[in-house]
Amino acid sequence: MNRSILIQPYQLLLKKRSLIFKIATPFLKLLSLFYRGNELHCTCCESNFRKFLPFGATQRENAICPGCLSLERHRLLWLYLKNKTNLFNEKLTVLHVAPEYIFKIKLILLTNLNYLTADIVPGEAMVQMDITNIQYDDNYFDVILCNHVLEHIPNDDRAMKELHRVLKPNGWAILQVPLDPKLAKTIEGSPNLTLEEREKLFGHHDHVRQYGRDYRDKLEQAGFTVKVDNYPQELGIEAIKKFALIADEGIFLCQKSPYLNFDLLP
Ligand SMILES: [Zn+2]
Repeated sequence: MNRSILIQPYQLLLKKRSLIFKIATPFLKLLSLFYRGNELHCTCCESNFRKFLPFGATQRENAICPGCLSLERHRLLWLYLKNKTNLFNEKLTVLHVAPEYIFKIKLILLTNLNYLTADIVPGEAMVQMDITNIQYDDNYFDVILCNHVLEHIPNDDRAMKELHRVLKPNGWAILQVPLDPKLAKTIEGSPNLTLEEREKLFGHHDHVRQYGRDYRDKLEQAGFTVKVDNYPQELGIEAIKKFALIADEGIFLCQKSPYLNFDLLP
């Protein structure tokens, strides 16, 4: 079956971030009314719905929130940031790479943060940045958020080393990627692959690899100390259902210093 047939118009809204969200706002208000209910709760927009929208090649049920377009990973990460980190309580200098719109509009309002967004695409963030060559000094940021970015970057080793370099010794980073837990070793795509081949192999036309269980090793090779926090399991089955999370999605919490503990709460 031609996969493009499966793509629903609302899924295209996820492709181009800031502009699309602005255009989509009235559309989302209508969609929210249609889906209102009490079965599911979105942790990002803090609204209740009878169901979420399906998404992806397999049309996963209850994936996209009709109120804010959050996916499972966004709802998990926002909960994690709120409940398990010092992001909302301490004075921190934050680098947010390729910022998720639903997080950016909230984080920019936090007066405790010195908050910098960065993107390789001009105009998408406060600064243009190639994370394989970051224009900031060593040990500059307390926090780095860089999610679903590394799978787009041919030289991801270099990007991880750069993120490690600019993180403060007592800082922390969350570096999520699409990861196939069934895959022991990451599959690197040849630079000669066509867009169609990338889509077929890696699920997206501009992904250059599929990460496997060795992703953690790659982060450690770049210098990070890594804890994979299986937060959905800690939240429990009722929360996984209510927030429509992916049960085995781990949070890759990375620190620069091997001597810190991973309890980030103040
Ligand atoms: Zn939402």
